[in-house]
Amino acid sequence: MGMRDNEPKYLSFKQLRDELSGGRLKCVEVVDYYLSQIERNKGLNAFLEVWGDEALQRAEAIDDKIKHGKAGRLAGMVIAIKDNICYKDHKVSAASKILEGFISIYSATAIERLLAEDAIIIGRTNCDEFAMGSSNENSAYGNALNPHDRTRVPGGSSGGSAAAVAAGLCMAALGSDTGGSIRQPASFCGVVGIKPSYGRISRYGLIAYASSFDQIGTFTNNIEDCALLLEIMAGKDSFDSTLSQKPVPAFSRDLASPSVKKCRIAYIEECINHNGLDPEIKECTLGIINKLKAMGHIVEPVSFPYLDYGVPVYYVLTTAEASSNLSRYAGINYGYRSPQATTIDTTYKKSRTEGFGAEVKRRIMTGTFVLSAGYYDAYYSKGQKVRRIFLEKTNEILEKYDLILSPTTPGTAFPFGQNELDPVKMYLEDIFTVHAPITGLPAISLPLGKHSSGLPFGIQLMGRKYDELTLLAFSDYMMGLDIG
Ligand code: GLN
Repeated sequence: MGMRDNEPKYLSFKQLRDELSGGRLKCVEVVDYYLSQIERNKGLNAFLEVWGDEALQRAEAIDDKIKHGKAGRLAGMVIAIKDNICYKDHKVSAASKILEGFISIYSATAIERLLAEDAIIIGRTNCDEFAMGSSNENSAYGNALNPHDRTRVPGGSSGGSAAAVAAGLCMAALGSDTGGSIRQPASFCGVVGIKPSYGRISRYGLIAYASSFDQIGTFTNNIEDCALLLEIMAGKDSFDSTLSQKPVPAFSRDLASPSVKKCRIAYIEECINHNGLDPEIKECTLGIINKLKAMGHIVEPVSFPYLDYGVPVYYVLTTAEASSNLSRYAGINYGYRSPQATTIDTTYKKSRTEGFGAEVKRRIMTGTFVLSAGYYDAYYSKGQKVRRIFLEKTNEILEKYDLILSPTTPGTAFPFGQNELDPVKMYLEDIFTVHAPITGLPAISLPLGKHSSGLPFGIQLMGRKYDELTLLAFSDYMMGLDIG
């Protein structure tokens, strides 16, 4: 690749854990290492804030626990969190001016569960404002850069998290995915990124963008780390009634289940023949399909003629939800209040006008429009119907197949500025990733592609609702094959 100045030093938590429990390494040294990496790669702008001293203190306490055999399952795992996930007594801004300086008064359930297993949270990462974007260019704090080529976007909205893992600034990172915000940056930065099923991980403490789509997920270097983090964060929570109440499988333990070795995989013809798809990505995806067939799996084309409706449906429904969710930033209870606010009206108007960025305003206005009395049936209501068709037709495919395979993104990381002035072009970047959140299904991006330009790209697998186990097990298998 040549463009990256460093490869991650610790590639697997298992290996790190062995070194820590064998006494050959201390958590404090691991944190020190990551802090120096962060310092060295400051130019990437992956972090909005680093909690260095606190991470070192925690590492010391965890070293002590390890010595006494009392450490949790994530002891020594250094994790970064996207700046839209609440961590008590720490700043969280959703990369927006409207929340500048805001301090969380509670922690997200996902964070509580990571901390309970002795993870070390090292800082909050850059993202698009309120998770709206595909390039990080919508952050109010300057965009993160792609560590593979700093003239290109890291993807979005969780671009800082993807860049941080890819550049070895932490071992894993949390992101959120509403329409592709984990999988697209994972594809652009060459790491593993998963969006679990809707209802898998509590959304309590995740700053809402579009509540019927949003899910927390992870960026990691491998499937095992992803499986472990998922099983720790997942599962019922009295603060989120949309969660599955079923017990969470031991994903990390059951990864190597032999039953998934022969798989039935569908690939959507409309994806692979899409005229926006980079020819090299198409060729690589077809190559992978052929290799999987040669290994004895059933891999077959299916038609999904609704593909092109995904992006419009996603943008109608998510903007509608966003317009409602973001009405709470009114300059009254918390967040930014305009110095020119004098009446209730000017408090709302001026605080929101000055506090929100252009893309967030565009979405609030679009969402307000699609929900308005005269247009509700033409847009919002129709969007809900198309969403239902997406789910039914996709489930029909998943009755016959275990997984659906596609490229994650139509292209590799694009240069800054390329799509910035054309929102529709930017939205079309989401063509392959919106399918999973529209249907609530789990999907993962695997860093299997390497473009002749040197840039990575991802291959996406989508599975049945709550069947992350098959998804993870087959992903692990694919990562183990010499497939890219
Ligand atoms: N790129 C998509 C958007 O701009 C996805 C965002 C997300 O998943 N949060 O909305």
